[in-house]
Amino acid sequence: MSLPIKAIKVWIRNDTYTKMLLERADKFDYETGGILLGYRNTSEGMEHWVVTDAVGPGHSAKHGKFIFTPDYEYHVEEAERHFNDTLGKEYYLGDWHTHPNASPRTSWLDRVTILRNAKRANHTNNRSLMIIIGGQLTSNKTISYVGSERQTYIGLVAKPIALKLASKSANNDWLLFHNPEF
Ligand SMILES: [Zn+2]
Repeated sequence: MSLPIKAIKVWIRNDTYTKMLLERADKFDYETGGILLGYRNTSEGMEHWVVTDAVGPGHSAKHGKFIFTPDYEYHVEEAERHFNDTLGKEYYLGDWHTHPNASPRTSWLDRVTILRNAKRANHTNNRSLMIIIGGQLTSNKTISYVGSERQTYIGLVAKPIALKLASKSANNDWLLFHNPEF
């Protein structure tokens, strides 16, 4: 039995985040997104999600003003390629997408997606990451979410934990998101 997780930190490489913002600007004000790659570790009640790369939507993705359907085949290929390139040290962590000119809070469909991802995420202890970039084109608002298949439910909808961008990160190469009480 592992210790309960009290604090969560999500680390994203600055250049990975820049890549996501460029893809967002390219499709604005249509939604876009992709998958998050990296690794997760836990120690003494602290959970770290380390995002080392993000993959874009793929050529067969569909972009709408209020919906985004990714190119799933492309994402499976890219996740497998990353897993092999890192000799199995890094893998699929979750999804990211944009909410152009809107709040970065999860929609009902987003919460269902997090729950579905968590259920099949054996490699991350049935927890899954989602990053949503909302806001205006020139002033993004980004929130990271971690959901669990064991989360409390309202009906069928999971309530993921929301992690805010820290005002200061440890260094210039990484952005840090954390739950505000830690
Ligand atoms: Zn969404």
